[in-house]
Amino acid sequence: MADTPHHFAPGGALYSFFKDTRYAPDLKRPVRRLTQLFPGQGCGIWLDRKSDCCVFCRLPAGTRLAVMGEGHEDHFDNWEVAPTDYTEMIDVSLRDADDVDSILCFNGGSFFSDREVPAAARQHLYRRYAAHPKASELMVEARPELVKDTMLDEAQEIIGGKNLKVAIGLESMDDRVRNEVLKKFIGKQSFLRSIEKCQSRGVKTFVYVFLGAPGLTEAEAYRDAYDSISALADLGVDEIALSCAFIPPGGRLEEMYNRGAFRPPWLWTIAQLIEDAAAHQWPLAVGGFDDFPPPVAISHNCGTCDDDVLAAIETHRQTGVFSAPMNCGCQDEWAHLFESNIAVRAG
Ligand code: SF4
Ligand SMILES: [Zn+2]
Repeated sequence: MADTPHHFAPGGALYSFFKDTRYAPDLKRPVRRLTQLFPGQGCGIWLDRKSDCCVFCRLPAGTRLAVMGEGHEDHFDNWEVAPTDYTEMIDVSLRDADDVDSILCFNGGSFFSDREVPAAARQHLYRRYAAHPKASELMVEARPELVKDTMLDEAQEIIGGKNLKVAIGLESMDDRVRNEVLKKFIGKQSFLRSIEKCQSRGVKTFVYVFLGAPGLTEAEAYRDAYDSISALADLGVDEIALSCAFIPPGGRLEEMYNRGAFRPPWLWTIAQLIEDAAAHQWPLAVGGFDDFPPPVAISHNCGTCDDDVLAAIETHRQTGVFSAPMNCGCQDEWAHLFESNIAVRAG
């Protein structure tokens, strides 16, 4: 989060952490969370592909900036963060966090990778979590091909009976949307294996679904997210997080946005998915709309009703209760766009 206080590890790496309260759809209650934003040593696939992957992800570039500073835009080899820096980051973030129910560790890549996070750092976090007086869940992120038995063994041996949750950025169950449009390069079988592996070991699962891939109409984007969420719920995924397209500053998407060729999703589309999730009892949470650097545009409606609908979505994030104000004239425009798009697809 852009406005979160930053700290420097002894080796110079920038990191941050914050506490908040969010509704957990799998537990059906609000939980107090500690979110740790610690720089990893570089997302493997992003480095290997020289950033030609995961079109909306700014995390590896932000992580490189946090560790190496300005002027390294062409650097695509892993950088180093000392294990002692991780120890410091973990310990400082936990200093005033005895009240949290859950700990979320984000490293700008995959936690289950020696290349990205040293084993000593992983193990220190597991030990601190195991000894925490209250926290009963630790969530880390990983690409599905890195969800290996050795990594789960290491974690579960140290944390004992406490819960581990693995978050995977699948984004779409549709192979074309996921791999051709969003460039995730995730095989369906690899993903299914990772979910099965977690479930067979009692590890909880969390999957990101993307709304608003470029080139999809509003209705197609809605349908892709709807189908993905529905399929993930059928698989027994514990929590599904909706990530919504935004316009980062600079680059192709801003240029498309400026000439009217692409816009982030309507807030009414997000509201519809929240209502769908409630109707089907899907464990859906809507992710935050902020990013760093701040986006040029995020999900919006007509401008007049945006603040009210955004506030309703925020209330849903915190309480799980959603009551969108349904009285703006732009709903007709949205519904018309939606229906005409559906007609085009059906034709
Ligand atoms: S989405 Fe995940 S795998 Fe893709 S570039 Fe971002 S951190 Fe790396
Ligand atoms: Zn409106």
